[in-house]
Amino acid sequence: MAPRPAHPQPADPAGRLVSATGPEPAELVVTVDRARCAGTGLCAASAPADLQVGPDGKAHPRHERSTALAAVVEAAELCPMEAIAVHHATTGELLAPQW
Ligand code: SF4
Repeated sequence: MAPRPAHPQPADPAGRLVSATGPEPAELVVTVDRARCAGTGLCAASAPADLQVGPDGKAHPRHERSTALAAVVEAAELCPMEAIAVHHATTGELLAPQW
């Protein structure tokens, strides 16, 4: 397996994306393609503060924005259905998944 490219965005010691213009963590937008979601719950286990599986058996973001970069990137990269995307809220850059 080829090594993953280095993450293009800086992160603080807590794994949060750091804004290029200040010390506060940058905001992330986490989306779930519910048509792809198979309801495995892996994402909710990886990022329980940001993702949950609803009564419909599909994953849902808990919030409109997140700053938990490490957790949501891991969730996006673990999803076997490639149903999760993490974008930088300001720039729109796709941060995960990256294969
Ligand atoms: S890991 Fe992917 S397939 Fe599994 S519940 Fe989360 S979004 Fe759905």
